[in-house]
Amino acid sequence: MAKIKKQDALDYHSQGKPGKIEVIPTKPYSSQRDLSLAYSPGVAEPCLKIAENPDDVYKYTAKSNLVAVISNGTAVLGLGDIGPAASKPVMEGKGLLFKIFADIDVFDIEVDANDPETFIQTVKAIAPTFGGINLEDIKAPEAFEIEDRLKEELDIPVMHDDQHGTAIISSAGLINALELADKKIEEVKIVVSGAGASAMSCAKLYNSLGAKMENIFMFDSKGLLSKDRENLSGNKAFFAEHHENTSDLATELKGADVLIGLSRGGVVSKQMVKSMADNPIVFALANPEPEIAYDDAMSVRKDVIMATGRSDHPNQVNNVLGFPFIFRGALDVRAKSINEEMKLAAVYAIANLAKETVPDEVSEAYGERSITFGRDQFIPKPLDPRLIYYVAPAVAKAAMDSGVARTPIEDWDAYDAELKK
Ligand code: NAP
Ligand code: MG
Repeated sequence: MAKIKKQDALDYHSQGKPGKIEVIPTKPYSSQRDLSLAYSPGVAEPCLKIAENPDDVYKYTAKSNLVAVISNGTAVLGLGDIGPAASKPVMEGKGLLFKIFADIDVFDIEVDANDPETFIQTVKAIAPTFGGINLEDIKAPEAFEIEDRLKEELDIPVMHDDQHGTAIISSAGLINALELADKKIEEVKIVVSGAGASAMSCAKLYNSLGAKMENIFMFDSKGLLSKDRENLSGNKAFFAEHHENTSDLATELKGADVLIGLSRGGVVSKQMVKSMADNPIVFALANPEPEIAYDDAMSVRKDVIMATGRSDHPNQVNNVLGFPFIFRGALDVRAKSINEEMKLAAVYAIANLAKETVPDEVSEAYGERSITFGRDQFIPKPLDPRLIYYVAPAVAKAAMDSGVARTPIEDWDAYDAELKK
């Protein structure tokens, strides 16, 4: 991928209308009559219908296709706590991705509230506007409480994408990588470097997929999370329960089957990769610099099965493979939440798509001849147009089967055709 100049990025955002998104009316507005329907007096009719029957808000307003991308700017990309206003380009960018990949409209909302309670109350107060809520770039551990409470207290889908998006895409990659390595998730030793927002939700989802808690070794900046570590709380304490004594990364990677890096660049050495079991699975996801550089890991041994967070190497763990289509499926059945069943359905749909022959148009977009399932392609490419009709129906169906869909889909062929338009 060509390197981007700083000035180009600034010009992209400032030229023409500043920013990246705008609002476009969806109804006629050229005559006086149109305006009387759009606003007073005509608008009173749908207002009265909704006042009578709250579910009619889905029928008469944009709610059903509208997602809020909400942040307080406390953990923005790799930039840290830069505040709500400085996070706005990222949130607008996420809105752009929702729109182009899944035709979902987004209002980006930047909230000046660092304490969880104020943030939660703010989001709750504006929730009636939206069909779903994507929480974004909120620092851990506050992000856990914020997401848990909003899921509990709201009846629309709420997802903190930094946690679950990464968990879903890396899980899809892990299932396929294990197949390539001919290993079972129930048996493998998984070492996780990092114990932040993304690492926690990844490890929990791997556990839902069958990985044993005693086989998951999670590290923070001080070492292995274990019972002899002092002052661990919340999620860290939960993972520490399964190991007696703390240890270091080099020791635990000896003979390990899987390394998941969600910590910081450069913390894994070539020697560590060398010490892992046959067909080692190395997901070095720290951005922009991975825990170990792709070329370094590949130079150590031929049998490495590798993914990174970067677009310039095979198998990019990129959240855009998930969130547009997960919300598409959830909105299309007016789901009350995004639950574990829906997340697992997305995992398997993404994993299965990677095994299908890639259409020529996708291969060409990436300047590659033909892309087939294997070590260089076990996670789909972000520009694969089939993602929407693989992932959205799987999520919608899981919502129906798990009892959180308000309006079940009856004609799946028609739904499929709609998604392919
Ligand atoms: P976070 O919440 O700040 O967590 C970072 C974690 O890394 C913390 O638990 C920290 O330990 C730990 N850590 C720091 N230095 C370490 C070391 N030397 N060894 C082991 N652990 C160490 O950040 P996050 O949002 O989870 O993201 C973590 C990284 O993953 C970032 O680089 C991010 O860009 C990347 N990421 C990539 C993707 C993707 O590829 N799609 C998605 C999400 C995140 P303490 O708890 O002791 O501070
Ligand atoms: Mg994010």
